[in-house]
Amino acid sequence: MKNIQMVDLKGQFEGIKNEVNASFQEIMEETSFINGPHVHAFQKDLEEYLGVKHVIPCANGTDALQIAMMGLGLKPGDEVITADFTFAATVEVIALLQLTPVLVDVDPETYNIDPDKIRKAITPKTRAIVPVHLFGQVANMDAVMKIAKEHDLYVIEDNAQAIGANYHTREAKTFKAGSMGDVGATSFFPSKNLGCYGDGGAIFTNNDELAHTIRGIVNHGMYERYHHDVVGVNSRLDSLQAAVLKAKLPKLDIYNEARKAAAFKYTEAFRGHEQIVTPYREGDCDTHVFHQYTLRILDGKRDALAKHLQKKGLPFGIYYPIPLHKQKAYADERYNEADFPVTNRLVKEVISLPMHTELDDEQIDYLTGTIIDFLK
Ligand SMILES: *Cc1c(COP(=O)(O)O)cnc(C)c1O
Repeated sequence: MKNIQMVDLKGQFEGIKNEVNASFQEIMEETSFINGPHVHAFQKDLEEYLGVKHVIPCANGTDALQIAMMGLGLKPGDEVITADFTFAATVEVIALLQLTPVLVDVDPETYNIDPDKIRKAITPKTRAIVPVHLFGQVANMDAVMKIAKEHDLYVIEDNAQAIGANYHTREAKTFKAGSMGDVGATSFFPSKNLGCYGDGGAIFTNNDELAHTIRGIVNHGMYERYHHDVVGVNSRLDSLQAAVLKAKLPKLDIYNEARKAAAFKYTEAFRGHEQIVTPYREGDCDTHVFHQYTLRILDGKRDALAKHLQKKGLPFGIYYPIPLHKQKAYADERYNEADFPVTNRLVKEVISLPMHTELDDEQIDYLTGTIIDFLK
């Protein structure tokens, strides 16, 4: 059996090697390292793929979220509602901009932000909602968009984990994850579903004015050379990374299908097991692109299982072990433990299994067999 890794990018590289090597050579010959033609070409390709008017590449996903919030003109003291169960980057940028993060509990089935909890958290100071499409599954955007409309709030989609996922609205329209809110933010960190070979990110929007504002913000607040109209940042995607992404983008749907196929096999193997809750997914499951394949292990056995896998040298991840509202940096006396029953439970039960485009049946059988044998 091939050695099992949490993320395996080697096989994927084989499929794009010639194109990437040729582009790298070209970029080095041209010395067009920053803002070169490869960046522009990838940006256009991604706009078309996502069906959005504007993609603004930037340096990483955390920057993308921060710049989106800056672009919307959110001001210190504005309240921004987001999920308690997510990677810290989401809440980090809210706090960095001196906005007030308001963490709310998540849905017990999808682990995504719970729309009812959003409603309860709205105050006169609320300005924005940040749904995170966690583990590759799109949040309940019908409900989020409805709430945002009713209360005149911005929606910033944290799409770092769900690029390529589709969302089917109540009106039977289909959108790509990240293209429904006022603005979407994504990450091209190597292990993400569309990953480069270093750091990268992008912001998406259909709003021309916002796109213009953001293009200035990523470039030191410059709209005309050496005229700094607003306080900006320096956040760029470099040409080498853009070349990798340009080669991978036409294969993104194939990559996501490979992830889904692995997820189906995992789920099939665990079917009916009383101590294992497999990931919820809707219908044919194209709203879930399985950035992670995350199980809940019941009866308090998660930690023992983790230890067992570790002993056997099998990789796994605990995403995430601590709710954000309990993190030292984001704890706040406003929070009441009774408001977070789902997150408080998930952090004790979740375990993510290896998930990437190169998993084969033998590896999946071995992993699922090992887990089932242990829990028996
Ligand atoms: C990865 C990730 C980010 C941050 O992306 P970076 O490129 O690492 O800065 C933000 N939000 C979520 C949900 C993520 O998974």
